[in-house]
Amino acid sequence: MSKLYFKYGQMSASKTAQLLMTAHNYESTGKSVMVFTPALDTRFGVNIVKSRIGIKRDAIPIHNDTDIYTLVAKSKPDCVLVDEVQFVSAKHINELAEVVDWLNIPVICYGLLKDFRNQLFHGSQVLLCVADKVEEIKTVCYYCNRKATHILKFKSGIPVYSGEQIELGLEDVYKSTCRKHYHRPPLKEDD
Ligand SMILES: [Zn+2]
Repeated sequence: MSKLYFKYGQMSASKTAQLLMTAHNYESTGKSVMVFTPALDTRFGVNIVKSRIGIKRDAIPIHNDTDIYTLVAKSKPDCVLVDEVQFVSAKHINELAEVVDWLNIPVICYGLLKDFRNQLFHGSQVLLCVADKVEEIKTVCYYCNRKATHILKFKSGIPVYSGEQIELGLEDVYKSTCRKHYHRPPLKEDD
């Protein structure tokens, strides 16, 4: 029985690294994977999944009118991987669930759980409700040894807690933090 997995993290780079490793593990044993990513993820150019250490691979973009189920049914891969699933619509998450239930192909979705305002991303909220198995990719707080549970955003060096969910400013910096340091990050490296 195949499953719909949701593997979430508080740090974009570590979950993408896991996705790429999973793809490699499948392919090194002669199995095939299909990798999808939302069309809006253009950090590195369109439709490329790339980790910070420079490994990358092509991904199939998910546009509003993309029919994931039909694409997967045609190719019949051994596994489907989805990056940045926090930005995937409920309609497409439904299609991913149908891939599991009717094609019996495992689907592993990677994404961020919450945004810098500490609110669930919509795609992640939907997936939490329908996934067979939810796993956390653990990260340590940027400032201490506690588990990172929050994402703290800095705009020109100042912590910000409100604004648009997706707003790609060049000067914006994101850090994975524990709850304590999310609310009160040390302003100098002295805490
Ligand atoms: Zn901390």
